[in-house]
Amino acid sequence: MKVSEKLEAIIVEAKSHIELVKNLNELNDAKAKYLGKKGSFSDVMKLMRDLPNEDRPMFGKVTNEAKQVILGYIEEQRNILEQQIVNEKLSKETVDVTLPGREFTVGVKHILTQVIEEMEDLFIGMGYEIMEGPEVEIDEYNFEKLNLPKDHPARDMQDSFYITDDTLLRTHTSSVQVRTMLANKEKTPIKIICPGTVFRRDDDDATHSHQFMQIEGLVVDEKASMADLKGTLLEVARKMFGEDRKIRLRPSYFPFTEPSVEVDVSCHNCNGKGCNVCKGTGWIEILGSGIVNDNVLEACGYDSKKYQGFAFGIGVERMAMLRYGINDIRAFYTNDLRFIKQFKKWKKT
Ligand SMILES: [Zn+2]
Repeated sequence: MKVSEKLEAIIVEAKSHIELVKNLNELNDAKAKYLGKKGSFSDVMKLMRDLPNEDRPMFGKVTNEAKQVILGYIEEQRNILEQQIVNEKLSKETVDVTLPGREFTVGVKHILTQVIEEMEDLFIGMGYEIMEGPEVEIDEYNFEKLNLPKDHPARDMQDSFYITDDTLLRTHTSSVQVRTMLANKEKTPIKIICPGTVFRRDDDDATHSHQFMQIEGLVVDEKASMADLKGTLLEVARKMFGEDRKIRLRPSYFPFTEPSVEVDVSCHNCNGKGCNVCKGTGWIEILGSGIVNDNVLEACGYDSKKYQGFAFGIGVERMAMLRYGINDIRAFYTNDLRFIKQFKKWKKT
């Protein structure tokens, strides 16, 4: 066999051998087998002894080239094996970044807050300002300036929690209207709504709560008529109960307005035909309102001959109860998450 064929055979054998090597120890054995002192090349080298001197350099060259080829195979396989080791190590130490993240609970605005914000949007759109005032109020602002002098029988309608003889938890947010008129001193127009919590000495049951929320509205201007009031309240009714709603006004009595009216909305459940929501009448009472009593205007610094106004009081809980068919006012305040969460996916009607 010629030297070149012998080398070729060694290379072929070494290649297929080295490719199958499974670890670094086997690879070192393979290296020794082909390139070591007693390896395959030692037999080839023996052939050199029989060669004439001039052929020896060429022999040395091709032999060396063959060794380099095999060394190349060995290094190639070493890289593969070392990469495998790294991969195995990495796979054992891997942090699984695909673990599900921690779930955060997204809260939901309380339904009363949602109703108030919706009303605020409506009234801001009609040019109103939102006013706030203290929940602990003086008797003068809560009652007296609203045409409810001490011992006035209508005070019984709003029995309250007194802190002293002259301070109490406000029974309505009308006290904010008083404060606003006093602060404006005949400046007009006044167009405000006053959302907030009010308190009355009621025993709690399905329809009564010692604490509830109101949005009271007040407009004072040189001209602010019953027609303006009706138009405004129609907007409120349609915003809350749908674009097709109608309203009707019934005569009523409130000390701070004259004339006073109760406002009914056509039933959103039966469209006025009569059902259990409207107790068969086709109408639902939603709020009280009226033309501001002259005594109130005068007490708050406005000339009742020059100015007039209208006022209304919206019960926030009542609105929400009617709109969503909630039958117990206490549900708003007991913070049962099952109740509160229902309004998470709430959509405007
Ligand atoms: Zn009905």
